This record gives sequence, C-alpha cells and structure tokens, in this order.
Amino acid sequence: MYSCGPTVYNYAHIGNLRTYIFSDALKRILMFNGYRVKHIMNITDVGHLTSEATDSGEDKLEVGAAREGKSVFEITDFYIKAFRRDLAALNILPPTKYTKATDNIKEQIALIKQLFRKRFAYDTPEVIYFDTAQLKDYGKLARLKVKGLKAGARVPFDVKKRNSTDFALWFKIAGRHKNHILRWPSPWGEGFPGWHIECSAMARKYLGQPLDIHTGAVDHISIHHTNEIAQSEAAYGKPLSHFWLHGEFLVLGKPGKEVRMGKSLGNFATLNQIVEMGIDPLAYRYLCLTAHYRAKLYFDMRNLMAAARGLLRLREAIGSLPASVGHPIAPVEKKFRSAINDDLNMPRALAIAWDCLKSKRYDGGEKKSTLLYFDTVFGLGLDQPVKKADIPTEIKRLVEEREQARRVRNWLMADKLRKTIQERGYVLEDTPNGPQVKRASQLIERVV
Ligand code: AMP
Ligand code: ZN
Repeated sequence: MYSCGPTVYNYAHIGNLRTYIFSDALKRILMFNGYRVKHIMNITDVGHLTSEATDSGEDKLEVGAAREGKSVFEITDFYIKAFRRDLAALNILPPTKYTKATDNIKEQIALIKQLFRKRFAYDTPEVIYFDTAQLKDYGKLARLKVKGLKAGARVPFDVKKRNSTDFALWFKIAGRHKNHILRWPSPWGEGFPGWHIECSAMARKYLGQPLDIHTGAVDHISIHHTNEIAQSEAAYGKPLSHFWLHGEFLVLGKPGKEVRMGKSLGNFATLNQIVEMGIDPLAYRYLCLTAHYRAKLYFDMRNLMAAARGLLRLREAIGSLPASVGHPIAPVEKKFRSAINDDLNMPRALAIAWDCLKSKRYDGGEKKSTLLYFDTVFGLGLDQPVKKADIPTEIKRLVEEREQARRVRNWLMADKLRKTIQERGYVLEDTPNGPQVKRASQLIERVV
C-alpha cells in the first residue's frame, strides 16, 4: 500500500490528518482480515510548487524556509518530527517505511530517462515535460475530458508547453527557478524533480509495479494521481496500482456552501490547537470515524465536542465492565466485519459497537472483549482509563459556597456561583449523591 504523504513546509492541519486517519482505517481493516500490510508513505521535501495545476509558483519547501529564516533541511526536519507526533497522537500506525523525495533523486532521474526513451518526455529551456498527448488514455482515473481542456480556457503558463495538461518532470536551474537552492546534477543540467515523479519512482522502488493499493485525498485524483499513472504506465507499460482509494475533504460551513480546510486558504486548525483546548486528540479520530471516508466531513467545535463526549462515554462504559472473557461475541463480530468490509463503513461499525455495549443480551466480560477487539480497527484507545482531572481548591470552595447558598435557599446566589464555576471552565451537575464537578474540556460540554 502506498500513501501520498505530507509536504513538510508547515504543520499538518486536521484536514490533512483526516486523510491519514482514513488510510490508517483501511490498513487496520486489512490487518483485521489477516493481511500483512507493507505500507510506504512518501515525504515531499522538494519540488511541490504553490500552483499545482499549472506547474507555476514557487517551491513550497523553499517558501517555508524563507519564511522562517532557516535552511530547507532544518524546516523539513522540524515538520517531519511534528507530523510523526501528530500521527502518534492519533493512534495512526506508522508506515513500514517513510521515503523522502530527496533521498531518491537517482531513481527519479532514471524514470525520466526511461520516459525519454519511450518518447513521452520533451525538453524545453526551463523544464522537462511529460507529453500527455502521447498517452491515449491520459486522465482516465479522473475521467478528464482532455480535448475540452486543450481547447479550453486554461492559458498555458509556459508557452513552451505543448499541451495544457502536460506537466513537469524536471525543473532546470534556469529562468524562474535560477535561484532554486535544492539542486542535483542530471543529464539535463542541474535541477530538481517535479512533484509527481517522486511517487512513481518510490512506489516502484519499494513496492514494485503494479502495487496493490494507492491512497490519497480527492484533490489528488485529477492532477497528482492522474500524472503518477501517466508516468508509471507510459514508462513501463503496466498499471501503477490495482486499486485507488481517495478520502473526501474535511470542510467548513454548511452543505452546499462548504469550503475545504486548506493551508493556502488560511482557515485551518492544527491538532495542537485541539490539544491545547484540553480535548483528547483521539476525539478528533472518533469524529472522523463517524463519517464515511467518501463523504465530506463538516467540521465545527460542536461536533468535535460531541465526538469527545461519545469517546469519553465509550471509555467510561468499557472501564466499568468486568474483565474480558478472551473472545468476541460471534454474531456481533460478524456484523462488524461485514460493515468494515463494505467499503470501510466505519459509522456503521461504531453503531454496532454502541449497540453491543447497550445490549442486555450479552454479559459484561463478553462485551468488553468484543469492544477491545473492535478497537484494533477503531484505534480509539478504548482501554484507556478515564482520567478524573484534579479539581483546584478554588473551584471546590466555590462549589461548597454554592451548596451553602442552596441550603439557605438563596437561589440567586447559587445560580451566580454556578455561573462563576462555569466561567472558570468547570461544569457542575447535581446528582443524587450531591454536586459533581468536572473540568469542562474533559466533559466537553463547553462549546467554544
Ligand atoms: P499536503 O501536505 O499539502 O501535500 O497534503 C497532505 C494530504 O492532505 C494530501 O493528500 C491532501 O490531498 C490532503 N488534504 C488537504 N486538504 C485536505 C482537507 N481539507 N481534508 C482532507 N484532506 C486534505
Ligand atoms: Zn503521490
């Protein structure tokens, strides 16, 4: 399995992370079915330009370095570490291997040479291009209407480009890229690879061609994966991958009026920001599992909070069950398996887990082993004990004062104190056992 990985010029946002939660669910489901998964993820650390569709703009990696006054290496090193931390916090199993584009330049040059031999590549003063007109089924993954594109509105950014869908294989240290820092020798002079070629070269190197499953997000269908397929199939006359799976976007707004979360749009949140609000990062994973991977997920704080509450309840309920009996409940397991094997229907799988938990038909130990078994797919840390946060003495004092106000029937004062407690980020509930206070972010009642 090959997953297109991050471009490491900035923190990943939670939209990017939705895509990796999706590929992790796929991988866990394959493992649940008894497959051993060899999983490769690339790290783009050169050549990803700001305007993907036209091969124009600047290299995002060099933009990142300039922004922070550091070297590209320092930038990529820093954001790779941050990315791995995010994946770990989300219980995403690490790939068998991460491969960096800059560690595989030789393989990319070899692939471009092969494309020249097969007459799919052409040389221009600044760029080596792939000639999409030479490939009769170019654009098949996205069902692109290439004819329309050619005659259509897209003005070619580079007049030396033969067809508007042609894309860069190699950029020369010339013209608009004459100051590019990252550069390697090649048969076409010093330069650096285009964005797509790294995946074709590394997928073949580590997994062979065809590989089994290739994943990414939906935006990759029309450009990046279309071009990966074009390169790999033109060069070697074989499919690149047997299966392609694409995750839908995390979006903001309302159906019909949604905008995608994007780094370039500036409307993004990072996992760190969620953690800083006191929310368990796995609440975000839970939220992602409540939507099918091929459906848009509408993000707002309210549904994140609801997910956090769901996760907390699930853990609390499991924590209160007796010890596992060591095997799952057979009919429930069968239902679960058919849900996840039906194009990864995780929302249904979650519902099956909840039904099992609430059912009176099974005993506690059976339920526990079933749910923990399912958690090898969910990856929600369901066996984690629910931590009871320490309540600061100041809050305890306010609770006590409110109790006193209630005892003397001073409802006005009692209400005021309750509000104060809430403002400090705590939630008070009156239960038959007296008042109970919890940190709001733990209970997740507070809607930010
Ligand atoms: P990048 O690091 O920009 O190369 O993106 C990493 C991955 O995140 C790619 O597969 C993108 O397609 C994907 N991606 C970007 N924005 C979103 C979003 N809003 N929701 C889901 N995936 C996204
Ligand atoms: Zn890729």
